[in-house]
Amino acid sequence: MNKLLEGKVAVVTGGGRGIGEAIARKLAGEGASIAVCDVMLENARQVAESLTQTGTKAAAYAVDVTDGKQVPEVCGKIVADFGRVDILVNNAGITRDNLLMRMSEAEWDLVLNVNLKGAFLFTKALVPVMMKQRSGAIVNIASIVGVRGNAGQANYSASKAGMIGLTKTVAKEYGKRGIRANAVAPGFIQTAMTDKLTDAQKKMQTDFIGLQRMGQPEDVANTVLYLASDLSSYVTGQVIGVDGGLII
Ligand code: NDP
Repeated sequence: MNKLLEGKVAVVTGGGRGIGEAIARKLAGEGASIAVCDVMLENARQVAESLTQTGTKAAAYAVDVTDGKQVPEVCGKIVADFGRVDILVNNAGITRDNLLMRMSEAEWDLVLNVNLKGAFLFTKALVPVMMKQRSGAIVNIASIVGVRGNAGQANYSASKAGMIGLTKTVAKEYGKRGIRANAVAPGFIQTAMTDKLTDAQKKMQTDFIGLQRMGQPEDVANTVLYLASDLSSYVTGQVIGVDGGLII
């Protein structure tokens, strides 16, 4: 049977661990070649090496997504190494939680820079490549808190709401060039990001989830696969919740 992404090249930011790693593995499993980008080169390298061992063409790239000089340079290297880019997954993200009254300017700037500016820089660098190909799929990893807000996460919620606005705008600007852009809004997914929470906090959260459990990185990766592949060829500018029914 033909694989969904045979011959395609995917760039995954924050691909060294967590949801990004699961996305890289999922897309590779469907035949895509993978550029694993992460601020921690060692993690990206481990993921790329293990993909290579299973027969996938993969390479690791050290990049801080906030750096307006590094991002276009790395994207240029990726295009030189792989020849094209069909899929961009803007996944790199961080939290620096605090109540707004206590939130420092540095906490605000860092989260907005990584989560939102990073997606802007990668999109800006790779849209011209996709335009030349007259096709491309961009998938932004937002969050349900970008839709509904969250106490203690003014910076993170604003960055994720911004990603949703960015997604819709890119879908409108580049649809005529064959480029689709969609966002995934995960709920409460089991990764290092949520491992920081206490058991009591986790229980409080899962009590509100329709399916009564945290999601797994693969749950997000499955939706990314749909949005990255031709299965969603008439879907653009959308935000798909992967939250076990947390928002219904
Ligand atoms: P992790 O912290 O496990 O992974 C995030 C990855 O991004 C890490 O590899 C991290 O590198 C990398 N990263 C951080 N800063 C930068 C940077 N400046 N440049 C390049 N890479 C960077 O988080 P998750 O896997 O949980 O989250 C992935 C995405 O999913 C994020 O955008 C997050 O906001 C979103 N999300 C997660 C949810 C959850 O419940 N886990 C829910 C909703 C959305 P390093 O190892 O150095 O930290």
